[in-house]
Amino acid sequence: GTFNKRINRDTARSMALAEQAKRVADEFNFGPDAVNKAVNEFIREMDEGLGKEGTELSQIPTYVTAVPNGTEKGLYMAVDLGGTNFRVCSIQLHGNTTFSLTQSKVAIPKELMVAKTSKELFSFLAKQIENFLKTHHEDHYYGHIRRRDTGGATKEQEIFNLGFTFSFPVNQIGINKGLLMRWTKGFDIADAVGKDVCALLQTEIDALGLPVRVAALVNDTVGTLMARSYTSPGKTGTLLGAIFGTGTNGAYVEKLDKVTKLTQSKDSGDYDKSTGEMIVNTEWGSFDNSLRTLPNTPYDIELDEKSVNPGIQMFEKRVSGMFLGEILRLAIVGLLKDPTFPLFRDENSAQNDIHSTTQIHDSSPIWKQWGIDTSFLSICAGDNSPGYRMVRQTLDKDYGITAVSAEDAEAVRAIAAAIGRRAARLAAVAIAGIVINTGRLDAPGTATTENKSGIDPPRGDADLAEDDVIDVGVDGSLVEFYPSFEDHIREALREIEGIGEKGEKRIRIGIAKDGSGVGAALIALVAGRVSVDTE
Ligand code: BGC
Ligand code: MG
Repeated sequence: GTFNKRINRDTARSMALAEQAKRVADEFNFGPDAVNKAVNEFIREMDEGLGKEGTELSQIPTYVTAVPNGTEKGLYMAVDLGGTNFRVCSIQLHGNTTFSLTQSKVAIPKELMVAKTSKELFSFLAKQIENFLKTHHEDHYYGHIRRRDTGGATKEQEIFNLGFTFSFPVNQIGINKGLLMRWTKGFDIADAVGKDVCALLQTEIDALGLPVRVAALVNDTVGTLMARSYTSPGKTGTLLGAIFGTGTNGAYVEKLDKVTKLTQSKDSGDYDKSTGEMIVNTEWGSFDNSLRTLPNTPYDIELDEKSVNPGIQMFEKRVSGMFLGEILRLAIVGLLKDPTFPLFRDENSAQNDIHSTTQIHDSSPIWKQWGIDTSFLSICAGDNSPGYRMVRQTLDKDYGITAVSAEDAEAVRAIAAAIGRRAARLAAVAIAGIVINTGRLDAPGTATTENKSGIDPPRGDADLAEDDVIDVGVDGSLVEFYPSFEDHIREALREIEGIGEKGEKRIRIGIAKDGSGVGAALIALVAGRVSVDTE
């Protein structure tokens, strides 16, 4: 009697739940046609951005005109202001494609991300550099202090050339000079916009009397590209450095004569033209801000409206780690607003063999903006345990949702997977746009000989000739921790006209973990001995 009724009710409930979860998941479909349309738009915006200012893809010339070949040597410093952490490192380049790295990392205090003045943030950064020098380079540091205090000059060898990785859009006007265009990833310090961020840092370094010269300003994508080129120099070099982390962006090697907004401008600055190439920072986070081709669900709309920068970084808001958790949260909260919707309403869920009612605590972060971390999507995608134990445990421990049933966990998983898959397919749009538009696929692409390079062979075809490889260096929490992010990217690449099965096989995607530090050091090396103008 009652027992059977309960079973029937449970079955009906789980069928309705699965069906509705699928309906929500389907809202995140981004099929082959949509992907191809977006690639065409990406290519259009790339070309537009190379020709003029103020476009959606900023296509920022970086003044970096050569990539390393692995033979570079020396001791350099680098700092990296990312979306989450500030890293300070020193890098010894050994000149044989290897390096050793010493680093320290601190979480950026939330209040500094929205400080009243930029001085608060930059003096904090300089202080971290001072701590690092005292701990890891005492000889340098105290030698310099001693000489300074006895009236002597600091020896040139004691001055560190520092590469400053600054992972925000900057209008670069020289190798170590660049004006902040806008903040992203939740930073918001009004007085920094329009200022030279190298000068802001150098001023605070000088105030502490440190033997450090900000020699190069580097976006993290450019650093990643440089690091990848140093550690795996193939014959054709690395084409693209990309970040899929808290934010997303890519920098690639462009033909100098296509960068017409630089080459045809009168005050185009001083740079080495001999290679005929320049690395361009696309700032693809703002690809298609006007939503010509980007997918747009009610959750995307709500996320954007409630963000600190509505209307911009629209691609980033669908792809990167800062936002995916929030998209999932908005989808779930949307479902919970409907009192008839079966999610998390199990009065009878079996957990640890005890039947109890699912409860969402009032203090659950699910009710707060940014309450779900993107790492939860990785957990969902990676949990293949019976009954999705990891997902249920995480909901319980981290999100205050107790006694979740396996069916509910499965519904959440389905929606989370759709959001992650859409992000990866969008990532493929950007990669494909650059591969196609640079004409790299028109190069050889036929021979198949053994891979003699000793570096990770491209997926799918280990016999590809080194000439045929199109190398892409990536970094960031999504590529590192989201299961199958690359598989989803590859699936979409195969669907793209102009890439296809053949092209997809030629694209090698390799992690350049924390590459931006090494990359910044390499650029500091190239930049050599220039001084920053602090006015
Ligand atoms: C910034 C880029 C950066 C990317 C990855 C974006 O929000 O605009 O400059 O490269 O995040 O860190
Ligand atoms: Mg970073």
